[in-house]
Amino acid sequence: MRKQLLLATRNRHKKRELQELLADMEVEILTLEDVDPIPEVVEDGETFEANAVKKARATAMAAGILSLADDSGLEVDALQGKPGVYSARFAGEHATDEENNAKLLKLMESVPDEKRTARFVSVIAICDPQGHVETVRGECKGTIARIPAGNGGFGYDPLFIPQGYEQTYAQLSAEEKNRISHRGVALAKAVPVLKAYFAARQS
Ligand code: IMP
Repeated sequence: MRKQLLLATRNRHKKRELQELLADMEVEILTLEDVDPIPEVVEDGETFEANAVKKARATAMAAGILSLADDSGLEVDALQGKPGVYSARFAGEHATDEENNAKLLKLMESVPDEKRTARFVSVIAICDPQGHVETVRGECKGTIARIPAGNGGFGYDPLFIPQGYEQTYAQLSAEEKNRISHRGVALAKAVPVLKAYFAARQS
């Protein structure tokens, strides 16, 4: 049996991070560009789990290939967990990263340093072509900076300082971010799930 895994994401930054993180697995990694068009999934769930499962299931059923989807976002304590599942569209439906970051900074203007705590969350769902799904969750705690710093990564990276660091995610190398990030942590938990899936089908 061919070991194939389809990454159910249209976000090119996430795709690159997932590809880097999965590079050691002996699995052929496919992306949505490698398969027949799959209808866009509306991410209208109220939790990261619900959205990740919806994306992974729709993709696996349409393509007939084991599929992996990540739903992720930033939860800021001073904003009662916002932007959360609305991270990508915090400043509006088609908001750019800069607009989302500007909105976050504005809302956090009067929040003192000790109350600027936040966490990035990634939920990864893995679904097989029969519709069986498993989810794993990764988190990375940190704080929200007062001004953006760094050019790497994407999204809120220039504003997020992971716990134990003085630089933002955007100032870390790709390797360092992958090592500590919410997606890296979730994916480390996903690897045994993937290995067990392929082992059970080894002929
Ligand atoms: P999703 O594609 O619906 O999961 O939305 C994820 C959104 O959360 C992204 O568009 C970013 O705004 C934010 N996000 C998720 N992961 C990261 C990350 O690693 N760095 C910065 N922002 C992220």
